[in-house]
Amino acid sequence: MAVAFSDQVRIVANDSARWDVFARHESDVRWYCRKFSSVYVSASSATIVDEDGREYIDFLSGASALNYGHNPEPIKHAVVRYLSEDGILHALDLHTAAKRDFIAAFCETVLKPRGLGYKLAFTGPTGTNAVELAIKFARHFTQRETVIAFTNAYHGVSLGSLALTGNRSKRAAAGIALPGVARLPYDGYLGDGLDTAALFERLLDDPGSGIDMPAAVILETVQAEGGLNTCSPQWLRRICETSRRHGIITIVDDIQVGCGRTGTFFSFEGMGIEPDIVCLSKSLSGIGQPFSLVLLKPALDCLPPGAHNGTFRGNNLAFVSARAALRYWSDPLFQSCLERLCRTLRDRLDAIARGFSQLHTRVVGRGAILGLKWPDATMANRVSAAAFERGLIIETCGARDEVLKLLPPLTIRDDELESGLQKLEGAIADAAGHATDLIARGQDHE
Ligand SMILES: *Cc1c(COP(=O)(O)O)cnc(C)c1O
Repeated sequence: MAVAFSDQVRIVANDSARWDVFARHESDVRWYCRKFSSVYVSASSATIVDEDGREYIDFLSGASALNYGHNPEPIKHAVVRYLSEDGILHALDLHTAAKRDFIAAFCETVLKPRGLGYKLAFTGPTGTNAVELAIKFARHFTQRETVIAFTNAYHGVSLGSLALTGNRSKRAAAGIALPGVARLPYDGYLGDGLDTAALFERLLDDPGSGIDMPAAVILETVQAEGGLNTCSPQWLRRICETSRRHGIITIVDDIQVGCGRTGTFFSFEGMGIEPDIVCLSKSLSGIGQPFSLVLLKPALDCLPPGAHNGTFRGNNLAFVSARAALRYWSDPLFQSCLERLCRTLRDRLDAIARGFSQLHTRVVGRGAILGLKWPDATMANRVSAAAFERGLIIETCGARDEVLKLLPPLTIRDDELESGLQKLEGAIADAAGHATDLIARGQDHE
């Protein structure tokens, strides 16, 4: 393995076209590679290695598709074993033992302990496909068309889910009208004094409001792409209660912040709601395999057989890896480490914000999806660029890229976390243009 690997590195490194090949042949629509420009070859835990042997700490984690880190041993072993046994890889949606094992384990480990009785609908492999199916179920069931989505929402970029997404530049790329959606302000959008759930309630109760009675309301409990805005449990309960009164289906898009990102398997746990439909994807497979799932209350299971077909609704390797990933959730040690990570991240970011208080640094987000925000909207991108120079991959979010978003693996080792946070502090100092802050903040922790 090691020999083959270094041979490959040498061949690529000697090729003067190693950058050129992307610039010349890959569409300009490519994105992350522009910010984190290198050619990567291997990764484990929270560390990625490029073809020059340079190591990076990964605080992006595939946009939270790698909550268990890169190549997590227990999941990788299950995958390798399945491959080596000629386990069936592609089967459309035929019954397979791998799928049965996943379904049984998901019900046993995730649904049953939480008292949830959802049915499972397997969609195409991307998150956006899960969203498409969720709104299809809701529209078909209610025989209504409108879906309410919130400001700064992100639900994917295929037409149905793009209509729900707020970002203007992403919407503009569609090139056609994106109908069937009414947009309302998310929690906190109008400032602290204004309860936007009360507005939601008023608009739906008032037959003169001009809002057509919607099929569904779709929301994220943390707007992971939209700037790490969070909603309060009270807000969420009022939205769900109003929806229930009007027969509106509640959909939680837990694609990015589910699978443990907020500290619990579902992001809405403990908030006193039970959504009618939940969308899962990103970290569901546990190892970066594409895999998406719609959970729905059995009464909503209204689509006829074949109405949402797709070739890749049976990624059996993902069933195997996802089943292995669920073992983390029956391991009390994983759960206590996750709690500790959430606390550590919050403490350390609070300390960083205090250390850089002259920049008016604010901490946003919840659980293990936290961010830093500055009044100067250009700061987050500058910190991200400076961090990359220091060997830390960290992305921004928000409509103006104004929030720096931390998404370390939930299983990150202490030394990787420490290294990443130190690079982050250094990068903030770099971006702010005063390296002396680095020394000043040193007293804030430890
Ligand atoms: C990533 C994401 C999607 C879309 O998933 P894709 O796999 O990129 O299509 C939808 N909703 C949320 C909240 C997401 O974070």
